[in-house]
Parts: sequence; structure tokens; C-alpha cells
Amino acid sequence: MGARDAVSGQKAWRKGCVTRGSLGRPSRRSGCRCALVDHPTKVAIPCSSSSNQAHSTTRRRRRIHRRLSSPRTASTEVASSTTSVVSRFLGNQDKDLVKGYRIASNYWEGMKKGQPAGYKPVVSQVPNERAPAEASNGAGPDYDVVVCGGNLGIAIALALQNRGHRVLIVERRLLRGRTQEWNASRKECMNLVRAGLLTLEELEDVIISEFNPNRVTFKGGEDVWVSDILNVGVAPDDLVETLKQRFLRNGGKIRELCEFRSATIYDDMAVIKVKDKGAGRGSGAEEVLLDMYDVNKPNAVPTTTTATDASLEGATASDTITCSLVVDCMGHFSPIVKQLRKGAKPESIVLVVGGCVTQGVPKFTTSDILASFTDAERDMQFFWETFPAKEGTTMYMFTYCDADESRVSFEKFLESFLNYLPSYCRERLEAGQEIGIEMSEEDVRAIQADGDEFLDNLKFNRLLFGAFPSYKQCPLNSPFDRLVLVGDSSAVQSPLSFGGFGAMLRHVGRLDEAIHEAIEGSHLKASDLKLVQPYMPGLGTAWLFQKAMGFEPSQMGYDAGYCIPQRKEWTRAHVNRVLKANFAAMKTMEKTVLLSFLQDTILFWPLTRTMFAMTFVDPIAILRVVYLLGPRTLAQWFVHYIMLGLYTLCDFVFGRFRSQTSNFHVRRYMDAWRYGSGADFFEEH
Ligand SMILES: Cc1cc2nc3c(=O)[nH]c(=O)nc-3n(C[C@H](O)[C@H](O)[C@H](O)COP(=O)(O)OP(=O)(O)OC[C@H]3O[C@@H](n4cnc5c(N)ncnc54)[C@H](O)[C@@H]3O)c2cc1C
Repeated sequence: MGARDAVSGQKAWRKGCVTRGSLGRPSRRSGCRCALVDHPTKVAIPCSSSSNQAHSTTRRRRRIHRRLSSPRTASTEVASSTTSVVSRFLGNQDKDLVKGYRIASNYWEGMKKGQPAGYKPVVSQVPNERAPAEASNGAGPDYDVVVCGGNLGIAIALALQNRGHRVLIVERRLLRGRTQEWNASRKECMNLVRAGLLTLEELEDVIISEFNPNRVTFKGGEDVWVSDILNVGVAPDDLVETLKQRFLRNGGKIRELCEFRSATIYDDMAVIKVKDKGAGRGSGAEEVLLDMYDVNKPNAVPTTTTATDASLEGATASDTITCSLVVDCMGHFSPIVKQLRKGAKPESIVLVVGGCVTQGVPKFTTSDILASFTDAERDMQFFWETFPAKEGTTMYMFTYCDADESRVSFEKFLESFLNYLPSYCRERLEAGQEIGIEMSEEDVRAIQADGDEFLDNLKFNRLLFGAFPSYKQCPLNSPFDRLVLVGDSSAVQSPLSFGGFGAMLRHVGRLDEAIHEAIEGSHLKASDLKLVQPYMPGLGTAWLFQKAMGFEPSQMGYDAGYCIPQRKEWTRAHVNRVLKANFAAMKTMEKTVLLSFLQDTILFWPLTRTMFAMTFVDPIAILRVVYLLGPRTLAQWFVHYIMLGLYTLCDFVFGRFRSQTSNFHVRRYMDAWRYGSGADFFEEH
């Protein structure tokens, strides 16, 4: 009997349950595709000739295509009534989920209209002056570091505390991680142990699901299965709580329900103004106005019970706090970021919808890192991600676009997600079958339904919405002394994967050391701190890939009736075609080429070889990329590409001498070469 794609029972989701065991059982199926796996002995997937693979993929795609064309499953372009699909679905969901949907929807419409442009300056610098005596009480600063924003902020706060610094965290809600898993690679998670934030046992406790193999697939192409990439689910609530308790035990201070308002930078310290939103908690508590942060982290919003329980954790309750260094970890929508970006509209957006499905779809035990099974429509190519989760299956649909007013509403986007979900589930299950994973009867039943029946059966316990902004200027630096940005606010995460947690895992050791050395050596001028979040050509290069995986507004040539002219028909299949060529090229090379790319690391030589190979695999697709991106964007990209080469060379020549110098600036340049060229990928791999 073949392995089953369903693992039941809570316990099975703890570490070690994984699909390895089940996949390891021999399958009677023949003719399935070759799998690119790290541990063929653990994942015994029968391989066949490549012609068989292609056959099987094509057959499956044809079946799915027929279903998509059938009147029962409406694509977005032919959907009869958005309102009925979305409202029918929302009618079956929890009221908090519906509230979150409305907030996200309003937020997205506001962003498209350019409303985030309404910002007010919150940071200022008074050059050549010391802080007024009443702020500092004539003594030194209250803290060495104040971390504003305590989601990923708790990680950097604890790391700096471990180095002996006095650290305060200011968090305007409760310091809690969200309940929806963060997906990352186990190897990256080990950085939390290396940075001294968790013990190995604690890491095992916060990893609540683990799965292999993981698939990448594009319409009309072959499935590529890899192992150990984005293969664990970390519970953010458990992780943040573990870090928080350690931080408090070691004497760290946290001010929850306390909002950062402003910072004034003087020669000798920064003076921060905060507003304690927790004062008069309980009956007199200020009403909480929910926003995008809260949509995806509702458990951090105080209720009457939690608000009364929340404490200032021992920090003084003054509205003025002084420190040597301010760390902005307030995420994408940080008031400091708005000021630094002058309220500019994001140049690019990753629009995401999805979450943890508890009913109505199969309980998948393998993941999709990147999947597409439809053509582009309305200037959007939809991509899918699936991750086994503790309480069900996490499924996201996302697209790369911008915040132009012509872009779809959240309602339309959610509608597309709901319409395509049954077909996607079928496609996934069939792909799983082809590598020997069998469906349970329950799973088969779940995907047989379509339309209303499917919608009525569908239950999410968390539905998340995201419009992740990205800008060409990344990472973002502060022009002010004594201020550094960390986490999403710094835009150091890949614009391709929007994995800010993954980025923190990658950079936490580097940041911890760099910030520590900056404080120790009083390198707190803006020009010094710029080196803590230096230019990284890998990020600039990835930015263009994001552009190549989407369309500019109206680029597909739709008219008012959503008809696409004959001469632009090719745009429908374009993104899939480019990605197929890209992955076909990478598959011919050594495994690290593919694995580094999937782990958000762009490396110079693999990139060069891949681009070269792609021109042979599908030259027409490449010419079309050039045509769609235009000379200006390509020229900008080329600069990053050349810099990537230079950084690779510098790291190769000088990187080995890093341990021999204690010069702050030299070490930061060496870090920039290492991380900017992606050479850090080879550490511990
Ligand atoms: C749907 C979805 C799925 C995702 N999946 C993944 C994944 O699988 N893997 C991954 O790596 N990443 C994932 N991410 C991204 C990840 O969640 C973010 O990158 C991460 O949360 C960023 O953390 P942060 O602390 O930098 O910012 P945020 O999480 O935005 O936290 C900012 C904090 O600052 C606080 N704050 C804001 N303003 C103030 C103020 N004025 N004063 C004090 N505090 C303030 C907020 O309350 C909040 O706690 C996902 C995100 C979403 C939305």
C-alpha cells in the first residue's frame, strides 16, 4: 500500500512525526517523476525516465485544465458574482475573521489611493547639543538600547541583553507572537541556538511541524521536489513567549501597551517619548483601534482580562525614556519608516491571502514552496504555498504587483483564492500521488465538492491578509544618529519570499554582533550605523526577479470588458514560461544552485550560469522579459548584478581575514561582502 497524505492526531505533529516515515514506505505506483531529495534513503520515491515524468505532468495538467474550464469552477475572469462567493464564505466564518477582512480591505484600498502618504515626522536630531537635564536627570541614559516593537524585536533585544546591555522593549500591544506558524528551514532555525537565544531543547519545542519533501511547480512544467527547504513550522507565540521569559528573567524590561511616539537625537543620547496605552487598564482602558498589525496578530490585542493582567514588567512608567541607541523594529508600517520613506507609495507589493484551513481541504503533509497552476490574469500571476500546520493546512495565494489604483480589491483577490482553491487542492493531491502519497477517503471527498458545497464546508481558524510593501531602496538606513532599523522595517527580507522571520534567522547573529560593537565602540553616528544595515546587492538583484514575476498595470492589455487582445495573448503564459526555463536551467546544475535560490540567497556564479543556460532553454521567454521590464529597470538591475560579482570577489579575497581585525568599520564591510554576496549561505551548510 502506498503512503497516505494524511497524518491524524495532535501528537503526530510534534517533531519527528514528519512525512519521512510515511513516504519511506514503498509505493506500488510506477511512472512517477524523479524527485530531487536530499535523503533518498529516507524518502524512497520511485523514479522513472524523464519522458514518463513529462507525460505524467502533462496528463495531470490537462485534467486540471479541463476542470478549470468547466462551468462549475469559475475562474476570476468568468466568475459570476464576487459578492455572493465572498459573502457566502464570510457568512460561515468567525466574526473576528470577518472584522480582520474588513480592516485589511480598507487598508489596501487606502494604500492604493496613496493614503499612507499622510505621515508626520517622529524623529528629529539636535546637532551639537546634549540632552536637556530634565530628560536625563543629569545622569546617563536610562538604557543602552530601547527596542521599539516587540515581535521580532524580542530576538534582537535578548541577543543584546546577552552581550551585557541594558535593554528596554516598548510594544504598543501585548508582547505575543501570532498563532499562525512561521515557515522556515530547520538549518536557518539553528541560528537561534547559535545566537544564544534558545537551547536546542527549546528550539525543538517551538518547532511544531516538520515536513519533507517540498515542491516547486509551474503550469506546464515538471514538479521539482526538494528536501529541507522551508520544511518546519515554528510557533511564533511559543517562540516569542520563550524569548520573553528569558529576557525578563535576565532583568530585561518590557513596556507593553505602550506606544512609541517620537525620538529626539542629541549628541549624548536619544530621548524617546512614549504613550502608555495601558494606563487605567480594565474599565478605563483606551479603546483599541485595530489596524493591519492586529489583523494578523489578534491575540496580542488586549481584552478586558489580559489588559488588567498586563504589567509594565518593572520598567518605570515615565513618558520620557533615554537611551544610547534606538532600534526600530515596528515592522513595515513603522512611523519611523513612513518618515524615512517620506510617505512614498511602495514600488512593489506582494498581495497575500490565506491561512490555516481546518476543514474542507485535505490535511496535506508535504509542502509547496512555490506553485502556480493557472495562467496570468488581470495583470497578476497567482502563486500558491502550502504548509502542513499543527491545526490543519496552511495555504496562501499571492501575487507580485504594485499599489496602483487599477489593482484588484481584496474582495476580488479573496474571490479568486476561493474559486481556485478546490482545483489547487486536486492538483496538489494528484502531484502527491505521483510520488507515492495516497489520499484518504476523507481527502478525496473534500476535493470532490465545488462551488457552494465547497464553500460551505470550508473553515479557516485563521485567515491572514498581507500587502507587503517593497521598495528599491533596501535595506533602509536612518539619516539620524543613534537609530538603527531591524526586522521588516529595515526591508532586509527578500522581496521574493517576504519571509521576514527567515531574514531575521539569517541576520540575527550578524546584527547582534554589529550593534554590540557599535555600542561598545560608540560608533553611533548615522554613517557608522549605515554599515550595520549595509547595501546588499543580492537584495537589489532579487528585487528585479520580483518585477519579472508580475506585470505592470495594464501590461497584459486588458480592455474594459477584461478581454485580452490577440497580440498580447502570450502574456498569459509568460511568467510560468520564464519560471519553467529558470528551474529547468537550475536543475541541470549542482543542488546548491537550486537550494540557495529557494532559500532567498542570490549567488553570483549560480545566477550567471542560470541566466546563460536560460537563454538556451527558452530564448523567446528571455527576450520577452527584456521587453516587459524595459531598458531602465534592466540597467538598474545590471548595476546590482555587477556589484554582486564585486562583493563575491571581495568576500573571497578578504573574508578569511575577518577574525584578524577588530576594527568596527572593516568588520562591517566584510559582513556586507559576505551577506551581500550570499556567501553566508555556505556557513554551516
Ligand atoms: C500572511 C503572512 C504570512 C507570513 N508567513 C511567513 C513565513 O512563513 N515565514 C517568514 O519568515 N515570514 C512570514 N511572514 C512575515 C513575518 O510575519 C514578518 O516578516 C514578521 O512578523 C516581521 O516582524 P517585525 O517584528 O519586523 O514586524 P511586525 O511583525 O510587523 O511587528 C511590529 C511590532 O511593532 C509593534 N508596533 C507597531 N507600531 C508601534 C509603536 N508605535 N510603538 C510600539 N510598538 C509598535 C507592533 O504591535 C508589532 O508587535 C508572514 C507574514 C504574513 C502577514
